[in-house]
Amino acid sequence: MKIKIELTQNLKPKTALEKNELPFGQVFTDYMFMMDYSRDEGWHNAKITPYAPISLDPATSCLHYGQMFFEGMKAYKQVDGKIAMFRPMENMHRMNLSAGRMSMPEINSDEVLDALAQLVELEKDWIPTTPESSLYIRPFMFGTDPFLGVRTSNTYKLVIILSPVGPYYGKDGLAPVRIFVEPEYVRAVKGGTGFAKCAGNYAGTMLSQLNAQGLGFNQVLWLDGIHRKYIEEVGAMNVFFLIDGNLVTPELTGSILPGITRKSVIEICKDWGMRVEERPISIDELANAYDGGKLVEAFGSGTAAVVSPIGELTWNDKVIKLANDKPGELTQKIYDEITGIQYGLRPDTRGWIKNI
Ligand SMILES: *Cc1c(COP(=O)(O)O)cnc(C)c1O
Repeated sequence: MKIKIELTQNLKPKTALEKNELPFGQVFTDYMFMMDYSRDEGWHNAKITPYAPISLDPATSCLHYGQMFFEGMKAYKQVDGKIAMFRPMENMHRMNLSAGRMSMPEINSDEVLDALAQLVELEKDWIPTTPESSLYIRPFMFGTDPFLGVRTSNTYKLVIILSPVGPYYGKDGLAPVRIFVEPEYVRAVKGGTGFAKCAGNYAGTMLSQLNAQGLGFNQVLWLDGIHRKYIEEVGAMNVFFLIDGNLVTPELTGSILPGITRKSVIEICKDWGMRVEERPISIDELANAYDGGKLVEAFGSGTAAVVSPIGELTWNDKVIKLANDKPGELTQKIYDEITGIQYGLRPDTRGWIKNI
């Protein structure tokens, strides 16, 4: 794929980067990648241009009917100065999973990953070097037909933007969070779009998130939409429980986002000789395991935080207390292993790192 590169002399000051003041998703780099799709031409017009607003017709279809999805991944500056991405091909495959569900065009995974690597290489000075910092990569696709009828768009844009981010956790390390088990709203249902990283999935969760925050919680735990009893995810993360020495996580049945961190946690724990169960797990089972002293740890998993320890789960009147101010032993061990591989502090025995 031929990528046109339009350079600028007008580079942004890197003040926030130098001062290490990088709240998530607020600072963007100098350039972005963009590519167009039409039914006749396929993907074309691939270019790297200065980061700038995109002008859209008010009738642009995605603004009305939501044909949009995104990805979230990171580039790391490793201890020896090399630039690394963590299992990036998995994100390319997931883009096509999302595209398929939203009846949007597939990408060529190799070409888009190559374009992404070129953009990161061009912007490598924007990758923070302070520990546990990274360059967040946000690819996204949306339908662009200026047409108000309900049908799939014939034209699309794929855009990739980059945002340097500081450490997710403060100097005290992995901070356990308080979770509200959502009794009323659901995130997704089987047959719906839960497994796709589409924009609409998130819009529907914000009301719950606000309610939970108003009650003093950090996040929401989602139950399934049919029985309202099987655990699905926590916020926008996958969820794991350490019960009786075994790691248990909800199986992927269509309503759960297939996280790459989730997949990595499962593979690592199996390598460590642990038993990992992907199966339905009800909130009653969890409460019973807690009462029986068998529920030892719980954590969420996702690219942004890697793992996020759950300190407390509140389900109606039931309060499950797991961690006070420190993460569980396994949660910390998984965090150290995954970040160790990402930053080149531990050997990448599974071939997960792509250096650029
Ligand atoms: C992105 C996301 C995850 C985590 O996926 P990773 O690939 O591990 O970052 C989990 N749940 C939801 C709803 C998500 O959007």
